[in-house]
Amino acid sequence: MKNTKYIFVTGGVTSSLGKGIISASLAKLLQSRGFSVTIQKLDPYINVDPGTLNPYEHGECFVTEDGAETDLDLGHYERFSNTPTSQANNVTTGRIYQYVINKEREGEYLGTTVQVVPHITDEIKRRVKLLGQNGNFDFVITEIGGTVGDIESFPFVEAIRQMRWELGKNCAVIHLTLVPFLKAAGELKTKPTQHSVKTMLEQGVQPDIIVCRTERPLNDSIRAKIAQFCNVEVSSVIESIDASSIYEVPMLMLEEKLDIEVLRKTQTPLPEKLDIAKWQHFLKRLHHPVHQVTVALVGKYVELKDAYKSIHEAFIHGGVANECEVKVKYVHSEHLDQEQLEAELSEVDGILVAPGFGGRGIEGKILAIAYARENKIPFFGICLGMQCAVIEFGRNVLGLKDAHSTEMNPKTNHPVIDIMSNQRAVTNLGGTMRLGAYPCKLDPDSKVFQLYKETMISERHRHRFEFNNDYRKDYNKAGMKTVGIYPNENLVEIVELDNHPWFVGVQYHPEYKSTVANPHPLFVGFIAAMIKARQK
Ligand code: GLN
Repeated sequence: MKNTKYIFVTGGVTSSLGKGIISASLAKLLQSRGFSVTIQKLDPYINVDPGTLNPYEHGECFVTEDGAETDLDLGHYERFSNTPTSQANNVTTGRIYQYVINKEREGEYLGTTVQVVPHITDEIKRRVKLLGQNGNFDFVITEIGGTVGDIESFPFVEAIRQMRWELGKNCAVIHLTLVPFLKAAGELKTKPTQHSVKTMLEQGVQPDIIVCRTERPLNDSIRAKIAQFCNVEVSSVIESIDASSIYEVPMLMLEEKLDIEVLRKTQTPLPEKLDIAKWQHFLKRLHHPVHQVTVALVGKYVELKDAYKSIHEAFIHGGVANECEVKVKYVHSEHLDQEQLEAELSEVDGILVAPGFGGRGIEGKILAIAYARENKIPFFGICLGMQCAVIEFGRNVLGLKDAHSTEMNPKTNHPVIDIMSNQRAVTNLGGTMRLGAYPCKLDPDSKVFQLYKETMISERHRHRFEFNNDYRKDYNKAGMKTVGIYPNENLVEIVELDNHPWFVGVQYHPEYKSTVANPHPLFVGFIAAMIKARQK
């Protein structure tokens, strides 16, 4: 049984300072020193989970093995630490209130008045401790979303205050703030940091370590000033300078000794060994690519890059595996028509059609796929992207003129993508999405098998609609092969084209499983195909 230590990461001054990356980097460093670590994100909004949030609001929704729809920061945690997260790793205010209110309705509070303190704060604490409970982890890192001082974050900061008091040296608080550079004055300013620490102090929490996000290096006098005015040791003032890649941040934090500070604050002996060579090797390859390709990412949320975060990162991992820099050209599917096609796609080395929901931009996606198929450009379709590939093939190769998904056109004569009859009953009951990991059996004669190199794989899902099995024979005969099947329900998970250098559509989301340590085989294969296409 491990003596689990709890590390909290809060943010001040402004959001988007990169708490998720700092948390993930700390986890990576502690792991490299031989500790087992998990990371949790507590989000102060009222949505029970981010599954219902529009990507414009909150970026991508990341799906875990156990089918939880979570904050995109969990994606960073997995990509850095190479360990899967679960529902327990992402908790929102909405989920906490829902749980407490349900308990109240069931009479479990025995007639007492249910209040934010202690009932909500107790539930927050319970969710944090849950991760450390079974003794699997040396460290539980809990990141609090939002900014200290926000009305929403009060109960979370109060829960931290109590836990620090209860846990003593088994707990430490890292506060991430901004140290802006004022051009006119020609200097870095510490006042916002001082104010944000003061806000925390008003709520009873003294941070142990202050991580300062900055555009310029912090000199000794700035460090001393922050230490003096924020009641921390100088060694606990950590510089977090803007980096060219998020994957640099663990190395920057190593230089700044963030991990050592955390060990010191929690009275954890510093292990002799540090095993970070693989990460460094990754960075070396990242910065010295031999090849370069450009891929078009066709989707409807392209104005907001965070909407396709995991895909973007999977291109980086797969790129490094190929010693290749992958430039992503975001192409708006809604603006893509026959005239635009050449201009947008003639120069790219490959086309990826993104996941999505609803009909907006769907015809643009279908046009892009026809272009990739006819011009033999490597193509990768993910979830809705795969469904669009099936629709395109139905319309243009099988001659099923109005082929469609019943998501977009419930009255189509050719519902090539549909809700399967055995799922319809489930749908009506409200359990509407296929979420999380499902096994898939690969055809050993397929191209995807060459990449996975195993017959049984497991991948994560997030969708309602499926390839309609009534059309399977016709598709296979005409050259679109159904090469991956979910055996339990006989559902098509992968299609690929004969007579095409690389044309793969997957019903699942491979991007969620790509990490620095394990780049996803399909992204690796797609990028290799793009390099080959370019060399031709
Ligand atoms: N909208 C499609 C479905 O529900 C695809 C979902 C997705 O791309 N994640 O099946």
